[in-house]
Amino acid sequence: MAVNPEKTFKFVVVGGGIAGVTCAEQLASQFPSTDVALLTAAPLIKAVCNFKQVSKTLEEFDVEERPSSVLEEKYPNLRVIQSAVKALHAQQHTLQTVDGLEIHYEKLCICSGGRPKLLTQDNPYVLGIRDTDSAQEFQKRLSKAKRIVVVGNGGIALELVYEVEGCEVIWVVKDKAIGNTFFDAGAAQFLIPSLDTDKPERAATCKRARYTIEGPAATQGLAVEPGSALGPDWHEGISLRGAEEVSVPLVSVEYQSEVKQIYTHQDFLLSPLASQTADTGSWPVYAQLTNGKTFGCDFIVSATGVVPNTEPFLHGNSFALAEDSGLKVDDHMMTTEPDIYAAGDVCTAGWEPSHLWQQMRLWTQARQMGWYAGRCMAADVLSETIELDFCFELFSHITKFFNYKVVLLGKFNGQGLGLNQELLVRCTKGHEYVKVVLSGGRMLGAVLIGETDLEETFENLILNQMDLTPYGEELLNPNIDIEDYFD
Ligand code: FAD
Repeated sequence: MAVNPEKTFKFVVVGGGIAGVTCAEQLASQFPSTDVALLTAAPLIKAVCNFKQVSKTLEEFDVEERPSSVLEEKYPNLRVIQSAVKALHAQQHTLQTVDGLEIHYEKLCICSGGRPKLLTQDNPYVLGIRDTDSAQEFQKRLSKAKRIVVVGNGGIALELVYEVEGCEVIWVVKDKAIGNTFFDAGAAQFLIPSLDTDKPERAATCKRARYTIEGPAATQGLAVEPGSALGPDWHEGISLRGAEEVSVPLVSVEYQSEVKQIYTHQDFLLSPLASQTADTGSWPVYAQLTNGKTFGCDFIVSATGVVPNTEPFLHGNSFALAEDSGLKVDDHMMTTEPDIYAAGDVCTAGWEPSHLWQQMRLWTQARQMGWYAGRCMAADVLSETIELDFCFELFSHITKFFNYKVVLLGKFNGQGLGLNQELLVRCTKGHEYVKVVLSGGRMLGAVLIGETDLEETFENLILNQMDLTPYGEELLNPNIDIEDYFD
């Protein structure tokens, strides 16, 4: 949609990912006769669909990439402007875009997401996976690869090493166990055998529809602007197959190690390492690890988290930044600049959180923050008061790892509890893994892997903080129907 070079909107939201789209939708529906602008660098926006409230705090939904026209058709007062922000003048309440637009706002919400924290910049052999384009580049490179090195221990690395077939994977994790971000060594032990088993046949359908961009957007090179982050099903519909015919998984894990140095083929041959390393082969790139080993490979995947996308907004303004470089927001999602809010991966929760909640840069939190930020902006305009939403009371996340359903609740990894915690574990190999975190007899967190059907009961026990001391280990006795027990 064409806009005048200068335009004023009551509400402007930057970012077409889950946080930005949810925030803009919230505002557009609450103020149907007010102009709302959604400014985004990428040609497609992310839309939440099939939203399901699984329990009080657990939610599940799918995400689809859609053309922005879908949003404009749904909300006649919502204008999607495809242009990347290059500068923000917080005092003047204006944004400047790379296309020379100047946009004035009364209230602004920054939802510009994050970008992969790469091991090294500008190395053609180091890839990060963030959006659909980078996932497709990965797939293309993988199809010709015989060995890759994957660095990182978060959700992306976990999914990737499980899904890749026909290619040897050297998985470099800095921790003692895999999946440290999401669970403990016990759960890792439970999941590890899945790497050596055949994967179930996958449905041929693709949940994430990819739209082809035609016309000016494609030719102006706008597709190179950062797209939205992918979510849990990012590998669905794309074949993650390497160049080798074998389908047996070829994953080896290098624990407690990091990449010390990366060598090109040429540099490697000239280095003393070439004579020290056994079985060097001939590879385009080599990764020297801190554990002393060196691996040649076709390319390296850097899956070591994200850095909040704050640059275009910082110059000349005085945002408080958190230690992780996110825009610090208070319990109304407000940054330290007047009339500027932030939500999703770009922000860091700066309020004193509930003892059962922590921020993690996840899809669900991007949606919750975007929605809540929209409500706070509305409340501010209407001079209404608003309480921190209930979704920030208890951390809850539902996902799939290694084809198992995974539910994480509260302080699922004993975060911040130190020695002041007791763990109860029930594990049936290949079937389920249940871990409960207790402190002072009260349940503070849980990890549920497999079809345990315990999420609702445990969520209630965590929320009501009932003293569970009398039940002891019976809590996880598989012969007791715990749901009936606490009814
Ligand atoms: P984003 O989705 O990154 O959106 C940012 C938006 O801002 C984009 O539209 C971008 O174009 C726009 N933008 C950026 N800069 C500018 C600018 N200067 N001007 C204008 N617009 C700009 N989460 C889970 O919960 N479960 C998972 O299993 C999971 N798996 C993941 C797998 C991968 C490969 C990745 C990369 C992420 C995964 N995540 C997962 C994380 C999840 O996708 C993100 O937390 C979430 O999508 C963040 O949403 P967001 O709206 O904050 O940011």
